[in-house]
Amino acid sequence: MERRSSIGNRLLAALPRADFELLAPHLRKVSLERDVVLVRSGDLVEQIYFPCTALIAFVMDMPNGQAVATTMVGNEGATGILPTLRSIRSPISAVVRIPGTTWQISPARFHAALTHSRALAGTVQLHMRSLLVQFQHIAACNALHSVEARLARWLLQVHDHIGHDTLPLTQETLSELLGVRRTTVTHAVCKLRASGAIRSNRRSSIEIDRPRLEAAACECYEIMRGRVDRIVSAEGMKPSGRGAPHGLLRYRDQPWANGDEVQAPVRIAGAGRSRSH
Ligand SMILES: [Zn+2]
Repeated sequence: MERRSSIGNRLLAALPRADFELLAPHLRKVSLERDVVLVRSGDLVEQIYFPCTALIAFVMDMPNGQAVATTMVGNEGATGILPTLRSIRSPISAVVRIPGTTWQISPARFHAALTHSRALAGTVQLHMRSLLVQFQHIAACNALHSVEARLARWLLQVHDHIGHDTLPLTQETLSELLGVRRTTVTHAVCKLRASGAIRSNRRSSIEIDRPRLEAAACECYEIMRGRVDRIVSAEGMKPSGRGAPHGLLRYRDQPWANGDEVQAPVRIAGAGRSRSH
């Protein structure tokens, strides 16, 4: 019987079939709840994640207890790849901020496949380049642009991944993304509401007006999106469509095409809510 399913992660989807099949027997699709901590900074990575619909924040835990997001990773990337290359500890925490599905694989299995696949090594390099672009651009954006413009940029980035206008974001997450206090978040949300870029906001969700939000965002959104898409497209990945999940590659009749066999939502051992203010 023909089986048709999508991989759902652009890094995995870009791998040649033979290289993907080195990973496929060891990949497990799981559903992650919001606020699950996948790894804390300083800990060894226990699982590598290739998000499909989940969105994961990379978070710096500061000595004073504050937590600031440095970027978010969705279906264009992965978490845990870089620290596992030399079995070093994770330099950052990774926290699920938009619940959803992800592929997971143990670092040992991933490393074993990596030693037999130049394409997979290329995928890791690709991921590093993509992250570097995002880190550099977000650092510049944080230094130069207003809180409202940065909030609009983050909301557009989240919208790109989830594809509908109601974004399941809490004030805590917005505070973490912007690196500001919640009172400052409230002020920025009010300004975007006044301009119509935010239609409504509740305790754990924000409804947006995309065209008005684009007008309110700094230029960093378009520049960063274009650069990341060019990096991944150079490796054969399809650029994402506006307001829709990134490109999906579909396969037929493959034993690993088990995207519908999603495990129940999981809690990671030792996980808890990240610290934030
Ligand atoms: Zn900016």
